[in-house]
Amino acid sequence: MTGIEGWVRRDAAVVWHGFTQMAAYAESAPLIVERAEGRELIDVDGRRYLDAISSLWVTTLGHHVAELDAAIIDQLGRVAHSTMLGNGNRVTIELAEALAARVPVDEPHVLFASDGAAAVEQALKIVFQYWWLRREPERTAYLTLDAAYHGDTVGSLSLGAGGFGTDLFDPLRFPVLRAPSVTAMVDLLRTHWRKLAAVVIEPLVQGAAGMMLHDPDALHELGEECRRLGVLLICDEVATGFGRTGTLFASEQCGLRPDLMCLGKGITGGYLPMSATVASGRVFAEFLGPDLSERTFYHGHSYGGNALAAAVALRHLQLLDEWDVLANVRERSIELRAALDERVRSLPAVKEVRLCGLMGGVELAPAADGLRWGRRVCAEAVGRGVLLRPLGDVIVLMPMLTTTSAEIDRIVDVLQGAIVEVCR
Ligand SMILES: *Cc1c(COP(=O)(O)O)cnc(C)c1O
Repeated sequence: MTGIEGWVRRDAAVVWHGFTQMAAYAESAPLIVERAEGRELIDVDGRRYLDAISSLWVTTLGHHVAELDAAIIDQLGRVAHSTMLGNGNRVTIELAEALAARVPVDEPHVLFASDGAAAVEQALKIVFQYWWLRREPERTAYLTLDAAYHGDTVGSLSLGAGGFGTDLFDPLRFPVLRAPSVTAMVDLLRTHWRKLAAVVIEPLVQGAAGMMLHDPDALHELGEECRRLGVLLICDEVATGFGRTGTLFASEQCGLRPDLMCLGKGITGGYLPMSATVASGRVFAEFLGPDLSERTFYHGHSYGGNALAAAVALRHLQLLDEWDVLANVRERSIELRAALDERVRSLPAVKEVRLCGLMGGVELAPAADGLRWGRRVCAEAVGRGVLLRPLGDVIVLMPMLTTTSAEIDRIVDVLQGAIVEVCR
């Protein structure tokens, strides 16, 4: 069976898609991708779609980028994978050096994993063991924000505020302190610092919360207060890292130097699964001691630091500089803001437009529950050749970091048309 319908049937027969109701999957007009060029995905029937969600926020420079392809092929000629447990790999060391030179973390040490959630999980466990090693075992609590999202494993889910239908897992989640705003977080920090292991934030933009923006000055004050009270700061830059917000890391815009930083999504330019937890020298040093002692971090993933992923991540980091990608992010962001202001913000169906760098959300204001405006607007946009995927009634805009003025124009044009069509 060929053609998209055949592929959808074969897909639904054997694949279980994440965050997807499989009983409705086949009828939801899914895209079945066969290949891609630059910022366009091409389906099994040869139809092209502008990838305006960067394949769920991971793709930075584009798909099928010659330089990134070459980095992987070159590494394939050496070795695809060797374990990082107790041993090293040349290209992974080179990547760690390149990251260490760029992350806003003091004396950084990089522990690799494969998914963002795993990077968060590692940070949680490092912090927990850190205080245990320092003989302050009463410091076990984590302070996070309302609407936080840090991944889907049980630990990262515990930090998250729930939603997305995950409430049934509440019995598995450990309790955390949660604040409604960054200012409230500072207050809670001042009251509860004695039992706090760490404060966990997504700096500048809470992505999965629906692109909620936070004031860099307030975040800076939070960082200062963490330092003053000796509470560790974990910055989850899985979504914001690698140029998304206009600087390499969002923490830079807040003047934050976290004790632990979580990286993922764009780290390989969207090519291969890789994530990392970056620990400061102060945290790392606490784990130094005799072999096989309590000072070892007994944690590690089979594919952590994978050589192919490291090779493409290293080349990606170089290309961000060589192509001056951050300048493009800032320039296209200004254009995107202007276009949204002009054509989308004042539509009666639109409640709010939020944008930071090339990380944006258009929140719709449905008159009643159950209208599924988010879903329907995105389906309409896909029909018009622009791939969008919502978070509830927030339309996420995540163009690639190399996007052009013409593409920005097209995305906004299609979005406006789709909102007007669906939200009459
Ligand atoms: C996506 C995301 C994660 C989880 O990353 P996965 O690779 O999907 O496990 C964690 N934190 C933030 C802020 C994210 O946006």
